[in-house]
Amino acid sequence: MNPNLYQSVTAVKGIGEETAESLAEMNIFTVKDLLEYFPYRYEDYRLKDLTEIKHDERVTVEGKVHSEPSLAYYGRKRSRLTVRVLVGRYLIQVVMFNQPYIKNKIILNETVTVTGKWDQHRQVITANELKIGNASSNKDFEPVYAVKGNITVKGIRRFIKLAFSQYGNDITETLPEKYLLQYRLLNRRDSMRSLHFPANDHELKQGRRRFVYEEFFYFQLKMQALRKIEREQSKGVAQAYELSRLMEFIDSLPFALTSAQKRVVNEVLSDMKSSYRMNRLLQGDVGSGKTAVAAIALFASRTAGFQGALMVPTEILAEQHAESIKTMLDPFGLHCELLTSSVKGKRRREVLQHLKEGDIDVLIGTHALIQEEVEFNKLGLVITDEQHRFGVGQRRILREKGENPDVLFMTATPIPRTLAITVFGEMDVSIIDEMPAGRKTIETYWAKPEMLDRVLGFMEKELSAGQQVYVICPLIEESDKLDVQNAIDVHATLMHHFYGRYEVGLMHGRLHPEEKESVMKAFSRNEIQILVSTTVVEVGVNVPNATMMVIYDAERFGLAQLHQLRGRVGRGDKQSYCVLLADPKSEVGKERMKIMAETNDGFALSEKDLELRGPGDFFGKKQSGLPEFKVADMVHDYRALETARNDAASLVESNEFWHSDEYQTLRNYLKEAGVLEGEKLD
Ligand code: ADP
Ligand code: MG
Repeated sequence: MNPNLYQSVTAVKGIGEETAESLAEMNIFTVKDLLEYFPYRYEDYRLKDLTEIKHDERVTVEGKVHSEPSLAYYGRKRSRLTVRVLVGRYLIQVVMFNQPYIKNKIILNETVTVTGKWDQHRQVITANELKIGNASSNKDFEPVYAVKGNITVKGIRRFIKLAFSQYGNDITETLPEKYLLQYRLLNRRDSMRSLHFPANDHELKQGRRRFVYEEFFYFQLKMQALRKIEREQSKGVAQAYELSRLMEFIDSLPFALTSAQKRVVNEVLSDMKSSYRMNRLLQGDVGSGKTAVAAIALFASRTAGFQGALMVPTEILAEQHAESIKTMLDPFGLHCELLTSSVKGKRRREVLQHLKEGDIDVLIGTHALIQEEVEFNKLGLVITDEQHRFGVGQRRILREKGENPDVLFMTATPIPRTLAITVFGEMDVSIIDEMPAGRKTIETYWAKPEMLDRVLGFMEKELSAGQQVYVICPLIEESDKLDVQNAIDVHATLMHHFYGRYEVGLMHGRLHPEEKESVMKAFSRNEIQILVSTTVVEVGVNVPNATMMVIYDAERFGLAQLHQLRGRVGRGDKQSYCVLLADPKSEVGKERMKIMAETNDGFALSEKDLELRGPGDFFGKKQSGLPEFKVADMVHDYRALETARNDAASLVESNEFWHSDEYQTLRNYLKEAGVLEGEKLD
C-alpha cells in the first residue's frame, strides 16, 4: 500500500486540524481510513412507479403539485407541511416535518421531485427531500454515511471527494491479479469510486462485489494460514487403519450408511490417516447418525493400534452412549469402558490401570476424562459430542494435551454453513445434511395461550396411551421484568391438574448436578410422566417413550434452540408432537412460529433464524467472536465467502504463495496480522 495513504487526513487539502479531530472520533485517522469509510446505505433517486413500491419502502417520485401547501406549527420549532401531489394517476399526500421554508417554493401545477418513505395504506410519502422541478439530477444514488459529532453526511461526502481527487491515484491493487481476472472484479481504485460515487446501479454492484470478495479473501487468508501453520506445527499421529476390517465392521451395522454419512466418514478417515492432526467439526442434526460415524472412527483407530476416547457433557449421556457404542463394538472384540465420577473405588482403579496398560480400546465418559489423572497407553483419537455447546475453551485444552491425538468435535447445533466456516475457520467442517430414510417427522403446532385447555387435553391423550411428556419453560422463577411462564409455576399448576394420576417432575439449572441426574433418571424410568424443565434438558437425553413436548413462551427461543429442544421427542417409533405455546406480537415473531411448525430441517431453520435475527443474535452476545466486515454481509454474500475460502485455502497450500514476489503484499499482511513470524518470510 502506498505510504501516502497512511498520512494523517490533514494531508488532504481542505481538511484542517479541527475536522481531523472530529473525524478521529469516527475512527478515521489516515487518508486510507477516510477512503475506506464506506456508506452504509444509498439514497435511491431512480424514479419508481408507485405500484411497485412496498409499504414503508423509500422512494423518489416526480409529480405535479395539486393543492396549495399547508403548514402547521406545533411547539416552538416544529412544523408539519402537507401538500397533495399527482404522481402519474395517483393523487398522494406529501408530508414534510420541520422544513417550513420549503412552503413558499411550492407552486400549484409545477413539477416537484419528492424522496421519502411510502405509506401504502394511507397513500402518504413522508419526505425528507423535496426538490422543485424534474428529477434532473444525473445521479441515481447518493451515499449515506454513518456520522458522529460535528461531521454531517454532506460534510463527509465532501471530505471523501477531496481525498479521492487528491489521492485516488495512490490507491493500489491488493488482490492477486488471477482472482481479478477470474471473477472479473474491478480494480481497487475504480471499486472505491463506485462505492462512494456510483453513477448507476451497475457500478454500485460491481464496486460492492469487489470489496465483498476482498474482505472475505483477506479474512480467510488469515484463517487458512493459521490452519496450515497449526497443522504443520502440531504433528499428529498417522493412523494406518485396516480398511478390510473396517469394511467388515461397517457391513455389520444394522443399516446402510446414508450418503452423507459415507462422505463424512471418508473425510474423517483421510484426516486420521494423514500425519496432520485432525481438527474437525462434525455437524449433524439430532438423529442424523453421528454416533455411528463416531463408532466407525473409533473402530478404525483401534485397527491402527490406537486407543480412542468419547467425551460427552453429562453422565446420563455417557451411559447412553456407552451402551450404544458397546453394542456395536463388542462383537468385534473391542473393549469399551465407561468412566464417570460415579465409577469409584476399586472399580475406578481397575479401569485406570487397564487403560494405562492398553487393555481398554475405547473409553467413554464426561469431559473429566481428559482433565483428570486419566492416563492412556496410546491415545490416537478423541471425539467430543458437544450436543450443542461448542466450548472454545475445550477445543484449546484438547489441543494442548501432550499426546496430539486426532480430534473430532460433534455438534447437533445446526450452525449455518456461512457462520460455521467463519467462526470455525481454523477447523475443517463436515456436515451430515441428510436423515436416515423412513424417519417420522415430529408434528409441530403453534397454539395461542388461550388454547391451553386443549393442549392439556392433548397431553392427557398421550399420557393415557402410556407415553410421557416434556414441558419446557424459559425461566425458573417468577420475574418482574419478564412476563413469562416460569417452570416452578407451571410445575405447580400441572401437579394440581394431574394430581393422583400422573407424576410431575421439575428440573432446572439451579438444582445440584446429582438432583438433576436423579430427576432425569426417574423420567427415563417412567417414574415421572411429565417433566417440567427449563432448557437444561436440551443437553441431550434419550427417552424414547416421551412423545410430546409443550414449549411455553416459545417466541422467546431462537429457532435453532427450539429445534434442539424438539429433538428430545421423536426418538422412538411412535408419532411424536411438539406444541409451541406462543403469542408473538411482531410479524417476525409470528413468522418464526410458522416456520417452526412447517420445517423439520435443522439447517434450513438455522439459516432462516440467521436471516431473521442476524449473526449477532444467532450466537448471543458473548459467544460471537464474529469478524466485522465493512461491505460484506456474511448472510447474503455467503457464496462469495465460500469462494474466498476455497481460494485462500488453495493459495496457502501453493509454493508460489510463500516465495513469489507476486504475493509479497499478502505475506506482509499476514505478518502484520501476527500470523507469520518475521523470519518465515525469507
Ligand atoms: P445422532 O448422534 O446424530 O443424534 P445417532 O447416531 O444417535 O444420531 O442415530 C440416531 C438413530 O438412527 C440411532 O438409532 C441409529 O442406530 C440410527 N441410524 C444411524 N444411522 C442410520 C442409517 N444410515 N440408517 C438408518 N438408521 C440409522
Ligand atoms: Mg448423538
